[in-house]
Amino acid sequence: MTESSRRIDWSRVRKQFREDYQFSMIVLFGLLASLVVTGFVIYRYAFGFYFGGTVNLMIVISMLLVLVYALKSGRTRRAGIFFCAATVVACIASTAMFGRTGILWGYVVLWVNFLLTSRRFALVANLILTTVLIIETSLFESTLEGVTYVVTALLVTTFAWIFAHRLASYQDQLELLALQDPLTFAGNRRMMRRDLNAAIARHRRTGRPFTLVLLDLDFFKRINDEQGHEAGDEALQSFADAVRATLRAEDGFYRFGGEEFVVLLEGDDADSARRAVERLHARVSGRLAFGGEVLRFSAGVAMLQPGEDWPAWVSRADRALYRAKQAGRDRIEVADAGDGVRPVPISPKTDRLNLGSE
Ligand code: GH3
Ligand code: MG
Ligand code: MG
Repeated sequence: MTESSRRIDWSRVRKQFREDYQFSMIVLFGLLASLVVTGFVIYRYAFGFYFGGTVNLMIVISMLLVLVYALKSGRTRRAGIFFCAATVVACIASTAMFGRTGILWGYVVLWVNFLLTSRRFALVANLILTTVLIIETSLFESTLEGVTYVVTALLVTTFAWIFAHRLASYQDQLELLALQDPLTFAGNRRMMRRDLNAAIARHRRTGRPFTLVLLDLDFFKRINDEQGHEAGDEALQSFADAVRATLRAEDGFYRFGGEEFVVLLEGDDADSARRAVERLHARVSGRLAFGGEVLRFSAGVAMLQPGEDWPAWVSRADRALYRAKQAGRDRIEVADAGDGVRPVPISPKTDRLNLGSE
C-alpha cells in the first residue's frame, strides 16, 4: 500500500502530538491558519471578490494537503518544509493580490517558520520572503517605509531564531536528564534499554558484534556500613569516572541499579572484547580506596548471540557475574553462548528482569 493511500493512525498521531513539538506546531498551525483563511474565503465570495476568494481558497487547500500529509506520514521534517514553503508562497501571493495588507501576514510567517521547521531552513525562507517583498518596491510608500520593513523583518527573524535555538537546547537538556543517572552521570536503565535494543537491531541487520559487561562492586555494603551513605555515593561517582576514563567514545556505560553497572562494547570479537574487559578490570579494580576500603569489582561478560533479546543477553551476563562472585570476586567470567537462558519477549514498557537493586 502506498503512503498516501494509508489511513491516518490516530493513536500514533496523539502520541506524536504529545512528544514531538514540531509536529504539534504543524498540526495546530495547519488547523488554525486554514480556519482563519477560510473566513477570508467566505468574506470575499460573499462580497463578490471571486478572484481574491479563489486565491485564499487555494491557500487553504494547500495547507490542508500539507496537514493531511503530516498526519498520515508523521514525517515532521518534510511536512515542516512543505508548510514553510506553502506559507511563504501564500504570503507572496497575498501581497501580489491584495497589496500592503499582505505584508502584515509576513510577520506571522516570519515567526511561525521557526516553529515549523529547522532554524536553517526557516532562515533561508525568511530571507527569500523579505527579499521578494522588498523587490516589489511599489508596496512601500517611501524608502523609509521599505527600510523600516526590512529592519523589523530582520528583528523578528533574529528573535525567532534565538527562541528556536534556546528551545532546541532545552529539549536536548531535558532528553539528557531523562536518560541519565543523576548520581554517576552514567546512562540510566531507559537509555540502556534503548541502546541494547538498537545494538540488537544492528546485529540482526549487519552481524556487527556487541559485548555486554555487567559490573558489580565487591563488598560495597561495607563502605556504606563503615563510612556512611555519602561516602558510598562518592565511591560510586569515582568508580563511574574511572570506568568512563577507560572506555572508547562508542562504548555505552549505564547504571543498572545500586552498585551494578553495564558496559556495552561495540565491534569487538570474543578475544578483543575479553582483552578490553581485562584492561578495564586491571585499570579500575583495586585502584580506588575509600577510608581503607579498596574498591574492587567482579564482571560477567556476554557476547550478543543471534536471535537473543536484551533481557536474555543481560541474564547470561548476570549468570557469568554470579560465577565470578562465587569464585571469589575481583574477577571476570565470560558467559557461554547458550548458558541455558530462554529468550524473554521484548516489552518496551517494562523491565521483565530486575537483576539489580534500583
Ligand atoms: P557483593 O560483593 O556480593 O556484591 O557484596 P555487596 O556488598 O556489594 O552487595 P550487596 O548487594 O549486599 O550490597 C550492595 C549495596 O549497595 C547495598 C546498598 O546499600 C548499596 N547501594 C545501592 N545503591 C546505592 C547508592 O545509590 N548509594 C550508596 N551509597 N549505596 C548504594
Ligand atoms: Mg549488587
Ligand atoms: Mg556488590
